[in-house]
Amino acid sequence: MNQIYSWNRIPNLNIESSIKVNDITSEVFKKNIAPYTIYGNGRSYGDVCLNNVGTIIQARGLNKFIDFNDKEGIFTAEAGVTLEEILSVIVPKGWFLTVTPGTKFVTLGGAVANDVHGKNHHKVGSFGHHVIAFELLKSDGTRIICTPHDNSEYFNATIGGLGLTGLITWVSIKLTRINNPLIWTSSYRFQNLDEFWYLNKAMEDIWEYSVAWIDFSANKRSLGRGILYVGQHAATQSFPYKNIKNSRKISFPVTPPFSLINQLSLFAFNKLYYNKPTATFGKLVYYDQFFYPLDNILNWNRIYGKKGFFQYQCVIPMHSAQYAIYEIMKKIRNSNQGSFLSVLKVFGEKESIGLLSFPKHGATLALDFPNLGEKTLKLFQELDSIVLEASGRVYPAKDCRMSVETFRAGYPLWRSFEKFVDPQFSSYFWRRVNGNL
Ligand SMILES: Cc1cc2nc3c(=O)[nH]c(=O)nc-3n(C[C@H](O)[C@H](O)[C@H](O)COP(=O)(O)OP(=O)(O)OC[C@H]3O[C@@H](n4cnc5c(N)ncnc54)[C@H](O)[C@@H]3O)c2cc1C
Repeated sequence: MNQIYSWNRIPNLNIESSIKVNDITSEVFKKNIAPYTIYGNGRSYGDVCLNNVGTIIQARGLNKFIDFNDKEGIFTAEAGVTLEEILSVIVPKGWFLTVTPGTKFVTLGGAVANDVHGKNHHKVGSFGHHVIAFELLKSDGTRIICTPHDNSEYFNATIGGLGLTGLITWVSIKLTRINNPLIWTSSYRFQNLDEFWYLNKAMEDIWEYSVAWIDFSANKRSLGRGILYVGQHAATQSFPYKNIKNSRKISFPVTPPFSLINQLSLFAFNKLYYNKPTATFGKLVYYDQFFYPLDNILNWNRIYGKKGFFQYQCVIPMHSAQYAIYEIMKKIRNSNQGSFLSVLKVFGEKESIGLLSFPKHGATLALDFPNLGEKTLKLFQELDSIVLEASGRVYPAKDCRMSVETFRAGYPLWRSFEKFVDPQFSSYFWRRVNGNL
């Protein structure tokens, strides 16, 4: 039995068995016990890649590059290849991922199955918009090549389909041209949430990438203050970027018995960070520093101690975003459970492809909370109520506790999606949000 790592400790999660696939064979479904859950690289914070009955199929073994057309910027690889591995090949050839999440340690299959988004959603949409084709292997051995035009119904169900429609064996994606590995970035402090909406709107028109960090030590008239980070790929080819150093990796060595994040340290960190000098006039950094700051602190999650932490991420449609995001922040601040890493971003108008894709036009807030047990879970239920009332939804990739009602209200196409679920596939998440645990 392989050890399965979970970000949020789910009580009594007894993994019966887990197997690795390292070639693309349907034998895997003949030899093992259903229901099957696919596990990419386990970078989801919740239970979408976990299973407490049947078999977990670890797809990291599907790790071969298949094709790289560096004239057209089209990259094809098996689904267990990570974004880090792809970047190591494409960046030296002047290409970049058109969409990347905040970690490069995710697999192609995982990026498709959660239809992940990046800091440039307002310009280019989500990962699924740049998928050219993939192959889906069903548990009965059927293989389906899916593109936006061929088997498009399976294409739309599998993008954001949480690994439930079958095993994605390979994926072909469209890349973006770059001149060098550098990002030109600026940052701007805003005094409260009202100021954020104005600033962000103005900056989004100009910059490819934009995301805000929120200071949860602030309250009342300063509620929602923070720093807006913007960036774009550096234009010049001649700049001596070899002199610009990539950041060094450090590691958090042990898991302390208790969380180092408590109200005191959290508020102190937030205040300090808000007041640090900002690079308003711009600076050049290596892409790693801009996109993946957490990847350079190996085992950063250990800072939360043995009880771990929860993530909470929701999206609120634009028409109700200003009010609902304010209410959510107020609720969190009044509960005295601030968040250490809080990110606010506006999703653009490009409609998601997937029937269960998370992104929709509106504001998304992602928060980390130390696990204080019932107290934290109760707060999340209250946040859910605000989200649902505002016609928003909670992100499955970051969730291990949303209710059946919250899921169904947030994802009204769940019934259309159900038709595409492989009868032998399921996950802890899927059983939970269908009331079948
Ligand atoms: C530090 C950090 C930052 C992050 N930032 C962002 C962000 O900015 N934006 C964002 O959208 N997400 C973000 N995430 C979440 C992460 O991008 C997603 O959870 C991603 O899907 C994880 O991919 P994975 O390969 O680890 O897959 P897993 O977490 O193992 O699995 C994710 C889903 O994909 C399915 N799956 C995996 N491989 C296959 C396959 N071959 N075939 C079929 N289904 C498969 C699984 O069944 C599961 O449903 C972040 C996570 C971390 C840890």
